[in-house]
Amino acid sequence: MSKHLVMIGGGHAHMVTLANLNTFITNGFNVTVIQPSDYHYYSGMGPGMLGGTYHPDDIRFATRKVVEQAGGTFVRAKAESIDPVNQTVSVTSSDEPIPYDVLSCNAGSFVPQDQFAEASDNIYTAKPIEALLEARNKIIELSQKQPVEVAVVGGGPSAVEVAGNVQQLAEHDCQQSVNVRLFGGKKIMSKIAPRIGELCEKYLAGRGVDIVCGSYVERIEGTQITLENGNEYHADIIFHCVGVVPSRIFLESGLATGPDGGLLVNEYLQSVDHPNIFGGGDCIYFEPGGLDKVGVYAVRQNPVLYQNLMASLEGTELHPFSPGGKYLLIYNLGNGEGVFSKYFVTFGGKMAFTIKDYIDRKFIKEFQAIE
Ligand SMILES: Cc1cc2nc3c(=O)[nH]c(=O)nc-3n(C[C@H](O)[C@H](O)[C@H](O)COP(=O)(O)OP(=O)(O)OC[C@H]3O[C@@H](n4cnc5c(N)ncnc54)[C@H](O)[C@@H]3O)c2cc1C
Repeated sequence: MSKHLVMIGGGHAHMVTLANLNTFITNGFNVTVIQPSDYHYYSGMGPGMLGGTYHPDDIRFATRKVVEQAGGTFVRAKAESIDPVNQTVSVTSSDEPIPYDVLSCNAGSFVPQDQFAEASDNIYTAKPIEALLEARNKIIELSQKQPVEVAVVGGGPSAVEVAGNVQQLAEHDCQQSVNVRLFGGKKIMSKIAPRIGELCEKYLAGRGVDIVCGSYVERIEGTQITLENGNEYHADIIFHCVGVVPSRIFLESGLATGPDGGLLVNEYLQSVDHPNIFGGGDCIYFEPGGLDKVGVYAVRQNPVLYQNLMASLEGTELHPFSPGGKYLLIYNLGNGEGVFSKYFVTFGGKMAFTIKDYIDRKFIKEFQAIE
């Protein structure tokens, strides 16, 4: 019987494998891709969709279409658990587990929400990216009835991008006033670099985002936000952008994981205890040295993951992944402005966003398979 490659998630680390699925099929292998949506959304352009710079169609990959056109099977479901002994994956759409010979995991990460608040329909997390579209529509709808208070909780990259793009949304698409308040903890972008933080603050505050720093959010109850210093604020819509953790699927399946719960992989992006399980992107913990949860690494892992999945099926030699050097950072702050940083060069303004927009559009065009 033909060997079966099963892929969990069609995320950023699976782009090259998905684009070359026909090679697996031509070589006599079966391929199944499991994903909860027919599309995968490109996170780098997600805040721009929230602000209205991009239409949802501009920023999504047609995963189902790509898989089916290449002759693979697309299963619209969430993978729930992995049984590495029987080599099966359980999914939400069926009681029948899916058998695999080689498994590749690109199930990404999520924002843990229970830190301060119960899930509620006025709270949105920075991921999944598609939820940002729902948030955009909700803010527009609310602003047709009343002035709106929006709170963004978090001081890192996703929080500043969400705040800047809600401000853009407020300026261009909302009927009544929308006030954007960013709860940035002690200081925004404190884990990145002071200069980047200063520039983000300058551009956001200059456009009217109210930046509240010096104290962390302690709890959120309904529409009330309480800080550790006792100050209280009202917000109609709250974005939870406090950093991500890897998919829980590996912890729950009893596989070897890193300190953050990500699938523990060696230099070949291969599970340290199950050689026929591979992974990439935010859902792994790279044993040779933990990697930042940025799409850049997922993108860099693409060719190695593709080669190693094929090598594992064919019984040939695996290739090591090297994370590479320092990566380019560009933050989209809305209003066509951004902050750029690489090596010793850091600047803000329209040029920074223009560069990001060019890079992002080029990347998505390469893999998108527009319908
Ligand atoms: C708002 C925001 C902006 C960002 N901007 C940038 C940026 O500009 N540049 C950058 O480098 N990084 C950026 N990042 C970080 C970046 O999002 C992540 O590093 C990147 O998404 C990781 O890619 P991934 O494919 O591993 O995970 P994801 O993008 O999370 O993709 C995972 C895929 O797996 C699917 N999936 C999830 N669970 C399951 C399951 N159980 N079963 C099957 N499928 C599943 C999901 O539907 C999704 O399609 C940003 C993050 C956020 C939140």
